[in-house]
Amino acid sequence: MAPLSTLPADPHAAPAEEVLAHLQADAAGLTEAEAAARLAQFGPNRLPEVAQRGWLMRFLAQFHNVLIYVLIGAAALTIGLGHYVDAGVILAVVLANAVIGVVQEGKAEQAMGAIRQMLAPHAAVLRGGRRLTVAGEALVPGDVVLLEPGDKVPADLRLIEANGLALQEAMLTGESVPVDKGTDAVAVDAPLGDRRGMAYSGTLVTKGTGRGIVTSTGAATEIGRIGGLLAGVETLTTPLVRQMDHFARWLSLLILLISGLLLAFGTFVQHRDFAELFMIVVGMAVAAIPEGLPAVMTITLAIGVQGMARRNAIVRRLPAIEAIGAVSVICTDKTGTLTRNEMTVATVAVPGGRYAVAGEGYAPDGAITPAGGRLGDLARAAALCNDAELHCKAGIWGVEGDPMEGALLAFAGKVLPEAASGWARLDEIPFDSRHRFMAVLNRGEDGVLVHVKGAPERVLNMCRDQSGAEGPEPIDRAHWHALAEEIAGQGQRMLALAVCTPAGDSIDEHHIEGGLTLLGLVGLIDPPRPEAIAAVAECRAAGIRVKMITGDHAGTAAAIARMIGLENPARVLTGADLEALDDAALGAAVRETDVFARTSPEHKLRLVMALQAQGQSVAMTGDGVNDAPALKRADAGIAMGLKGSEAAKEAADLVLADDNFASIAAAVREGRTVYDNIKKVISWTLPTNGGESMTVIVALLLGLSMPVTAVQILWINLITGITLGLALAFEPTEPGTMRRPPRQRSEPILSGALVWHVVLVSALFLAAVFGMFAYAMDRGYPLALAQTIAMNTLVVLEIFHLFFVRNLHGTSLTWAAARGTRVIWATVLGVTAGQFAITYIPLLQRVFGTQAVPLADGILIVAVGAAFFALIEIEKQIRLGLRG
Ligand code: ADP
Ligand code: MG
Repeated sequence: MAPLSTLPADPHAAPAEEVLAHLQADAAGLTEAEAAARLAQFGPNRLPEVAQRGWLMRFLAQFHNVLIYVLIGAAALTIGLGHYVDAGVILAVVLANAVIGVVQEGKAEQAMGAIRQMLAPHAAVLRGGRRLTVAGEALVPGDVVLLEPGDKVPADLRLIEANGLALQEAMLTGESVPVDKGTDAVAVDAPLGDRRGMAYSGTLVTKGTGRGIVTSTGAATEIGRIGGLLAGVETLTTPLVRQMDHFARWLSLLILLISGLLLAFGTFVQHRDFAELFMIVVGMAVAAIPEGLPAVMTITLAIGVQGMARRNAIVRRLPAIEAIGAVSVICTDKTGTLTRNEMTVATVAVPGGRYAVAGEGYAPDGAITPAGGRLGDLARAAALCNDAELHCKAGIWGVEGDPMEGALLAFAGKVLPEAASGWARLDEIPFDSRHRFMAVLNRGEDGVLVHVKGAPERVLNMCRDQSGAEGPEPIDRAHWHALAEEIAGQGQRMLALAVCTPAGDSIDEHHIEGGLTLLGLVGLIDPPRPEAIAAVAECRAAGIRVKMITGDHAGTAAAIARMIGLENPARVLTGADLEALDDAALGAAVRETDVFARTSPEHKLRLVMALQAQGQSVAMTGDGVNDAPALKRADAGIAMGLKGSEAAKEAADLVLADDNFASIAAAVREGRTVYDNIKKVISWTLPTNGGESMTVIVALLLGLSMPVTAVQILWINLITGITLGLALAFEPTEPGTMRRPPRQRSEPILSGALVWHVVLVSALFLAAVFGMFAYAMDRGYPLALAQTIAMNTLVVLEIFHLFFVRNLHGTSLTWAAARGTRVIWATVLGVTAGQFAITYIPLLQRVFGTQAVPLADGILIVAVGAAFFALIEIEKQIRLGLRG
């Protein structure tokens, strides 16, 4: 085949056949070889990425910060005053701060970039006549793409088939009402919104199905031309980080004000030397301002994002990390989330007999007992009313498409292998979870037939009669309902299959309503996931109620709920029940009911709202296009990564890469850990800052000599502070995290307990530092040595405090707690080495004004740290004890 030279210029104005011819393609799709060649020619189907800021710009951006301005101003003043060493230390600190900032930002962006990769869309295509799922990037002009409700159109398509297809094109035309699509050509100059025969990249399928041929990809698409960008993951911020950012900004202002007052007090009341006073006040300001806090919190979030991704929960919106850790109710789908979605037909029933079907997986072999049943028509219906394909790779049968339909194909293969051959589909009504059935119209050797499959309650009501040995016979509805009930009670998913002859060569719902002949029932088993059972138990221990919301039969739902271990599996509310309840009655009912069956997606929204009205924090899962409103409304909306539609993913905060309920529990655990770690970072940073600055303020106000010099404070605060504080961002989950009840979403991060902790630890720091300083002066040590001892005391206290903060909820006096983590020890060893260096290396002694500390005093410093640790640990145990 000659290579394709041009793309069709106005595909919307040409008949579909012409576009196919131009693209040298046909309705069966390209061959793999041709697709590969075109991919090389036209490049991947990807929009150009937003240019990233360069390293230099990022580095410079770090200096845009009030504190840094203050520091640079201070350095200039210090040079003016002739204190070159001090100025050098200030500038080194500023530089170190910027470098740490760039590295942190880089890490965080890396984490988010990796997430974006995991959310890359996929597309269902025909290649060489077979249905395949490929990465959206691999599409080439001429590919045939299949569209289903909830899909995001992956490239610009000329439609060659449309069944009730409607697209939401707001992202392109601004029109929020879905537009009906067809296959007809329109005028060349028709505006985008009127081009009925086209499906444009980035738009969403709201209903119906269709097929289209790719006319352009990547930057050549309409969305690419208007410079539309990939809907990426947002910037790294959450309500909590914003709250702390705000807090830090006002605190900084307060501290600057206090600094000004201290400067005035020292100069005019105490008549101190201005140069020295100025340095002290700058040191105090730097010590008090929690400048590193927002950055460390951001890193904590980024680490949480990575941790969740490792557990298959992909964060789309960062606030979800906080939200998922606080949920008190999880509303989950059943099929594929609690169960494996590996279906097998286990039971079939036709008029006059019930049969057990044996066999494993999707292989089309297995015995049907008792043998000799009249199952041919049922098998043909199962095979024709079906969009899936089975394929055998290396002896293992797999399914492409819906696993339930795959199971039906396998069953049909067990009855009569070529059940569907010779039949061509003319029309269809796609499955929709609102009407719960699917119908197809096929032409074969025996004529034209409509086959319908769907939920028994729905299909039985559409039937006029049932198929008997000698043609249609009166239908025994009561018998079928009872049978469906009984099989569903064993946890099997139920389908009814029916047939009729059509009036014309298209189907509409009204025509088949009431005119069908029932062929029989099919029961499918879909075993619960063992890890979901464990995860449900874990959630219950964590005070989280798990509720199942399914479109399935009430009996099936109750049976699976029992197997999974939901709290109250016996009471089932159906969609019809829900509709009969008013909001007040619903509010009372949702609390104690854990199983909701035969629900439609609209019910999910109502359930979320009812639970939220009860003060619950709700996580809700969903996969279909109609689930989007409930996902948006929930505190944490969770979409399925595998079977979920693009529409659901876009509405969700989290996407489960493996659709597994266990991943939700893992995300809760991770979310709680992140929140704890942020709290730990704050609990460590604030008292450290408080202790340091109080030391300076008290010394200044009392007119004493400084226990710690300004340069030493800069060193402690910016070097040791950031490294030690950052270590907390990497803390693993505390034991018992999933045995605590969920936190209230309204709970402020600066709780009373935290404020108390800040005050207590600040006071202890103050006492210890002054105590050691006074002790040293009392022994007649020179001022520099006394200050060195006080400074080292401060750092030792910080390290002990770090070990204390690691266990906010339990005791720190366990072997595991003392052993710490590699990150903790690496930073502690690093900081310790730094302290030894500035205490004992002569060159650094000159810079920092330190002196070598005698061994006995060194031991005393560590002993003071240990005493401090014992004090706050005992205080914590008393508090935990009082809480019960
Ligand atoms: P869930 O995903 O919660 O298990 P669904 O809304 O997918 O529920 O399905 C509800 C019911 O609709 C099923 O019990 C089944 O009877 C019927 N059903 C599901 N998928 C199809 C389909 N592709 N074709 C026909 N009927 C279906
Ligand atoms: Mg489903």
